[in-house]
Amino acid sequence: MDITRRTILTAGAATAAAAIFPRPHVARAALPLTQPKLPFAEADLAPVISAKTVGLHYGKHHKAYYDKLNTLAAGTPYADMELTDIVTQSAKSKDAADVKIFNNAAQAWNHVAYWDQFVPGGPNRPTGDLAASVDETFGGYDGFIKRAVDVSDTVFGTGWVWLTRGDDDRFALIGYEDGKNPVAVGRPAYLGIDIWEHAYYVDYENRKAEHIRAVLDKLVNWRVVEERLKS
Ligand code: MN
Repeated sequence: MDITRRTILTAGAATAAAAIFPRPHVARAALPLTQPKLPFAEADLAPVISAKTVGLHYGKHHKAYYDKLNTLAAGTPYADMELTDIVTQSAKSKDAADVKIFNNAAQAWNHVAYWDQFVPGGPNRPTGDLAASVDETFGGYDGFIKRAVDVSDTVFGTGWVWLTRGDDDRFALIGYEDGKNPVAVGRPAYLGIDIWEHAYYVDYENRKAEHIRAVLDKLVNWRVVEERLKS
């Protein structure tokens, strides 16, 4: 089964709505889950992210999460679920086997969201209500970038910085370790910045902040974020 872009775009909203309108569980043979194709050529994000990094990141790291997930989920109740449901269901368990499934499912999900949110030939910027919310919350786009870098420093090792909503329902940038994501904790996932070293080390060595600034300044497709806000 192919995980479409729409599946990812609607995932946050579906999770948020689940408490009010529980979705029927449609059992079906979902495995093997298929890694979606990149929405651009490997070289298209250069020089912000090189073709070599995209090739490794998508072709080795992201692929490995799918491969491991397909192996681990075989013969388990997760085998009949779509990717988003595997993430949210496995997130509820502390069992070691479920944690392994969660780690790989979340990373499979995270990277689909990641590739989908970039546009070659940027930059572009939030507009309209989204721009107003970014300005109100972060004091402008520069403030948004600065806050993202600050939040990245709260994650000691591997992890992600996500644009989501806080308990007050306002925009919030939150850092999570490893593969944990907002969807796993019932929050929307509008934008995710991968801060694992594999995301930047080939191009930026230890200059993580420089990488984050460049990605947010030059690659984010805010039209995709707008779609995620509406879904
Ligand atoms: Mn990654």
